[in-house]
Amino acid sequence: MKPELLHCYHLLGLDPRLPAQRGWPVFREAGKLCELPPDRYGRIPLLRPDAAAAWLAMQAAAERDGILLELISAFRSYRYQTSLLQRKLASGLALDDILAVSALPGCSEHHTGCAIDLASGEADVLETAFAETPAFHWLMRRGAEFGFVLSFPEGNRWGFLYEPWHWCYHGNPGT
Ligand SMILES: [Zn+2]
Repeated sequence: MKPELLHCYHLLGLDPRLPAQRGWPVFREAGKLCELPPDRYGRIPLLRPDAAAAWLAMQAAAERDGILLELISAFRSYRYQTSLLQRKLASGLALDDILAVSALPGCSEHHTGCAIDLASGEADVLETAFAETPAFHWLMRRGAEFGFVLSFPEGNRWGFLYEPWHWCYHGNPGT
């Protein structure tokens, strides 16, 4: 584990062996990032340049098919994830309850700068109901063309929650 990530576990008072003990992946934090247009909350999302280009191409293709894809969340740093957990721990929530919905620092795919959380206006943000939207069906049909893969399908191998809104760029197959 990298020193900056170890420091996050120190800040949280958590054992840095937790990810390994639970069999969870540890992701490297993105180096180069580029800015995208502001999201609905006025924040500037960041993505790795190749993932950003792929996302914009995918969004434009969806729009041509009459599908609205909205970016809700992109890159998150180790530090951001650490402060999120700090707030939850300070509010008195049990660690296991926190980890049922939030990743440990290092274990969020959003650290890579390639993961995106999407909405489409038809469903509440970050709800399983996103799987019932035309946008989700469009993504299942055409996401791979742009290099995007559904990271956490139902029954995924890490036991993470089903997240139909969470997609990750794995490189364009160049069809
Ligand atoms: Zn996500």
